[in-house]
Amino acid sequence: MVRKLTAAAALATLAASCAPETQTPVKVRALVLSSNGTYEPQEVELKTVKDIVTLEGQVVRLLGGANVRLDSNDPELQVATTEEALERALVKDEGRPVTASYITDAQGVLWPADFHTWNLVTTYYNLERAWDYFRTIAEVRAADLPQTKAYYFPDFVLADLDDKPQRDNALYFAPTSSFLVLPFDQVQSAPLAINASVLTHEYAHLVFNRLAYSGRTLPEAITTWSATGGIATPGLNVLKSLDEGLADFHAYVASCQSSFGCNTRVLATSFEGKPVDDRDLTNPRNCMTRDLRSQLTDTNFATFSGREYQVGTILATALFKASRTAADRQVLARAVTAAYSDTSVDKPGLAQRTREHLNDQSKFTLGLAMRTLVQHLPSGNIELKQAVCTQLATHLQIPIDELVGGKDDCPASTTVNSSCESINP
Ligand SMILES: [Zn+2]
Repeated sequence: MVRKLTAAAALATLAASCAPETQTPVKVRALVLSSNGTYEPQEVELKTVKDIVTLEGQVVRLLGGANVRLDSNDPELQVATTEEALERALVKDEGRPVTASYITDAQGVLWPADFHTWNLVTTYYNLERAWDYFRTIAEVRAADLPQTKAYYFPDFVLADLDDKPQRDNALYFAPTSSFLVLPFDQVQSAPLAINASVLTHEYAHLVFNRLAYSGRTLPEAITTWSATGGIATPGLNVLKSLDEGLADFHAYVASCQSSFGCNTRVLATSFEGKPVDDRDLTNPRNCMTRDLRSQLTDTNFATFSGREYQVGTILATALFKASRTAADRQVLARAVTAAYSDTSVDKPGLAQRTREHLNDQSKFTLGLAMRTLVQHLPSGNIELKQAVCTQLATHLQIPIDELVGGKDDCPASTTVNSSCESINP
């Protein structure tokens, strides 16, 4: 009898470990960066997961075994004229729901039972934290943050670059409106999906796409401004720089909620050395130079590509330096996302500004983009506005007359400080 009972109990435990019932929040262990800078299995709560085995919830739906291929010679891609057809042409196989497995401890907390479950749970957790940051701190409407597919360890081929599947990356891929968590190869430290700052940066691209690009997989400004036949693409270069820089700023602000604390080094723990330092918001070299500015305004994106991170880091540095308290960071993060799209006549958002200058991208300057951002700061918060204007003028070297003048613009008293060498006459 005793033996029977034990067997029955063991079976029950086994069943529970295969398919625990999902009641939110789910207490689970994930790999989280602790205050001493190491990743540790920490007990966390997943608040939005609907199925803990397939890791599907309000924020993402994880799919394994997908095949995504971008090949400009692909006949299916060449005839794709709608966004749906484009997605179908790129996603050769959507894969299937993942299967996570757990061991339940005495307190009812689920412990991932294998490596992939650790990676999957941490991916869900990091994307849920990013979603939560945008909902609560940046105040983006829930309707603008829909459930998104996340292809886990897909075969992702960019055939024009390389026939081998891409590795060592986690990205938001706008053409398929999905996240891609790629297998790792060279990255010896923290895989990118475990790096909360990297996933928040990627989630920020989704938000930028939803608001500044109206959720389009082929944003109008990008397709129109790319088609210049090789001549300079100043508007496109600015737009891409904004997307990268603001993503780093959001990743920084979101990190201040974490147990590690505010993280100015988005790539730290996954990479080392120069790439990490180049993106560090405390790097004293984060200043616009004459060379970078002429690249921004005078080159085609094909040439400029890669430098959007440099301009972006300088922008993120300016915002970081302007907002040193939790309250200021929140006000600024809200202003930034509010500036993505605003249909009001007196202070249009970035989406509206790009549309306005669709036929002449040279009018969509860094100065105009920054004025758009400044206009969305609450007018009562004079000190923060002043700080943002000073840092933008200093680090991005935007001529002050491009930032001042209107009711909600930078105050006329805006000056630069001595953090950067002046490149303006
Ligand atoms: Zn990015």
